[in-house]
Amino acid sequence: MKIFDEIESEVQSYARAFPRVFHKAQGEYLYDTEDNQYLDFLAGAGTLNYGHNNPVFKEKLLDYINNNGITHGLDMHTKAKGEFLEAFNEKILKPRNMDYLVQFTGPTGTNAVEAAMKIARNVTGQQNIVTFTNGFHGVSLGALAATGNSHHRDAAGAALSGVHRMPYDGYLGDGIDTTAYLDKVLSDSSSGINSPAAVMVETVQGEGGINVASFEWLRNLQTVCKKHGLLLIIDDIQAGCGRTGDYFSFEEAGIEPDIITLSKSLGGYGLPFAVVLMKPALDQWKPGEHNGTFRGNNFAFVTAKAAIDHFWSDGDFSAEVKNKGQYVSRRLADIVKNYGEGNFTARGRGMFQGINCVNGELAGAITQRAFKSGLIIETSGADDQVVKFLCPLTISDENLKKGIDIVEQAIKEVCAKETPIPEEVDYFEEPQSASA
Ligand SMILES: *Cc1c(COP(=O)(O)O)cnc(C)c1O
Repeated sequence: MKIFDEIESEVQSYARAFPRVFHKAQGEYLYDTEDNQYLDFLAGAGTLNYGHNNPVFKEKLLDYINNNGITHGLDMHTKAKGEFLEAFNEKILKPRNMDYLVQFTGPTGTNAVEAAMKIARNVTGQQNIVTFTNGFHGVSLGALAATGNSHHRDAAGAALSGVHRMPYDGYLGDGIDTTAYLDKVLSDSSSGINSPAAVMVETVQGEGGINVASFEWLRNLQTVCKKHGLLLIIDDIQAGCGRTGDYFSFEEAGIEPDIITLSKSLGGYGLPFAVVLMKPALDQWKPGEHNGTFRGNNFAFVTAKAAIDHFWSDGDFSAEVKNKGQYVSRRLADIVKNYGEGNFTARGRGMFQGINCVNGELAGAITQRAFKSGLIIETSGADDQVVKFLCPLTISDENLKKGIDIVEQAIKEVCAKETPIPEEVDYFEEPQSASA
């Protein structure tokens, strides 16, 4: 359609990689205006963990609209908001022994990050926040200062301040625990880094290229924070809401953040919604200090509650996601081994995985080739060198296989290696023995 060239800003991004006009979607499928069907392995960059137009949520939403439920209510108490809070408290927080208060922010991830950073600064009276190489936290000025990517940072048009950058887990190579460096500079009154307010981190860096922090590193990070009196903020906007298998991405690490940000898949239906969770002692806000017109997206309250009721009332969904994640791990490991030119690596946790193709052009060629075969999949990382597998968690086993097959074929063609196709392996079965 010409209208996009005519009046839409050059700032568009995903639209360039997938130059079609989309108009329908269901589950893991997207359809363009010519009725071509695509498998969606981008899933709203992690916003559609439960798929497009999930019928369970759709019915609840339609009922709510038909009954003239409140659509917009600023931050006033509504029945929908109360019911969301009850479900979140009973099914997410309490079973995990998590004692947190919920702040509704403006409905984007970056606004939740802004609020989290303000809380940390105001409560501690310190200005600086430690963030990490390749971290992504949003593009409004405060969050952008915390973001590593220079493409985004260069567009700020103003000084980005109030942040100290530290090396993420693995940044300096295997076997180097970068939290030891953080501990060192915080212990040294001459390091140039004096008493920051907080540390803010993703457990798996999504936009930064699917870099996974080990559980041990996360625990060490928490220890360093406690030792030096820093608050620990986990930005779980992309890794949370089940992407890694648990509701929160840090559960398995056994850490207890002071502040947590959630957005993306929180609303369940792809509706804009963001919250900050904070330890009760940190709630030192004065009324309306951090406000926003759209803190009460009641449609999102309805679908978020439906998502919690439907998927998180017991452990079944979590187990299913972990199983699928293991399947993806096995497949990606084999693809890398068979066609990866000796230098590709597979990375990720749960259903948050990627293939590092080292070279951004190569990764782009692979995702473009996959698109021609009906798969929507994107790259991430500093040089867009990582093919990022982010399909809905609800995807069928068959389509999960199909999507990965398409990438495998694309890699084979792009790398043009005459490698024989290995014999059929049933990847959905756990390997019987651990022998190599
Ligand atoms: C997407 C994302 C954000 C920003 O969310 P927006 O809704 O795009 O503002 C912040 N942090 C992380 C980890 C993200 O993945």
